[in-house]
Amino acid sequence: MKFATKVIHAGIEPDPSTGAIMTPIFQTSTYVQDAPGVHKGYEYARTQNPTRTVLENNLAALENGNHGICFASGLAAADAIIKLLSPGDEVISCNDLYGGSYRIFTKIFQRYGIQFHFVDMNDPQNIVDKINPQTKLIWIETPTNPMLNIVDIEAVVKIAKNNNILVCVDNTFASPYLQTPLDLGADIVCHSATKYLGGHSDVVLGAIVVKDKALADQLHFLQNASGAIPGPNDSWLILRGIKTLHLRMDRACQNAQAVADFLVTHPKVDKVNYPGLKSHPQHDLAQKQMKLPGAMVSFSLKENTISAANKVLSGTKLFALAESLGGVESLIGHPATMTHASIPKEEREKTGVTDSLIRLSVGVEDIEDLIEDLKRALQ
Ligand SMILES: *Cc1c(COP(=O)(O)O)cnc(C)c1O
Repeated sequence: MKFATKVIHAGIEPDPSTGAIMTPIFQTSTYVQDAPGVHKGYEYARTQNPTRTVLENNLAALENGNHGICFASGLAAADAIIKLLSPGDEVISCNDLYGGSYRIFTKIFQRYGIQFHFVDMNDPQNIVDKINPQTKLIWIETPTNPMLNIVDIEAVVKIAKNNNILVCVDNTFASPYLQTPLDLGADIVCHSATKYLGGHSDVVLGAIVVKDKALADQLHFLQNASGAIPGPNDSWLILRGIKTLHLRMDRACQNAQAVADFLVTHPKVDKVNYPGLKSHPQHDLAQKQMKLPGAMVSFSLKENTISAANKVLSGTKLFALAESLGGVESLIGHPATMTHASIPKEEREKTGVTDSLIRLSVGVEDIEDLIEDLKRALQ
């Protein structure tokens, strides 16, 4: 099955009891058993829920994996992945990553004796330098947030395999339509389905997809034992969102390219970060690794101050000032004071998150209106 067919059909069958073409929302906490221990595969809804199962199977198909495991949020999925590790284990992560992932790593798991190293993954040698016998996991986010760097997944996987280390890719920014890390050798893919998979800014949910059965068993154990599961309504909303993932993504990427091309020519704009620009240092890698360059764009201003950024942030009408990304509507944000406020100033400036850096999640509106909106705000 090709991707556009999978989003609509993979793992999804009409309901056998009624013929309902859409997956029912199984709003139940428990299931009647025929005799003690004799049941239809469902005992208690923390452990299994049929709506969630359909979503998990659909996501596994989209990522070309074998097992999907869903969670109450993207961070609950990250929480389960790090819980595969034990005190004394070490993780190498990219240094330009989602602020909430940085926070759960450093503020929670570091206290439980897991050590994290944050490196610039543009140069794979930085990863090699941090590897030791305790290294158990490499955590990649690509494109990175908010600098839109591209990490070479295949190159990192090669280093990891030589050292028996698991590779996890947070695929939230690309979505499985643009990139399937399991095909490049990654062991684990995780998502904030809150973003492109849901696509309508109306639900928070997380997901993990793996190929390996033993790894899936451990993650299912953690899903049930820690209990951060998504409800059936939320699972259903993500299933509904996924059906148009490819259509939304095509339009959003096309709009993002046009927005980036416009910003490059604007006299008040300093630097534009978008993998679809020829000037992007990893433009070729993006073309090789991704179907399209994504719909996130960031840029800095020649006047590098918070007040200059604030004028733009409060000047747009269509680009709404809000955290998050990946919905049909365009959003504008200020990483330094919003998504990346939990990262110390020296840390964030090292990666390029300066005071004037502005991040756009480009939606699927009419491109002329979007550019007009940015033009006005930059004036
Ligand atoms: C939003 C986000 C997360 C966290 O997901 P939630 O669903 O908000 O918990 C993780 N990684 C990336 C890249 C994100 O954008």
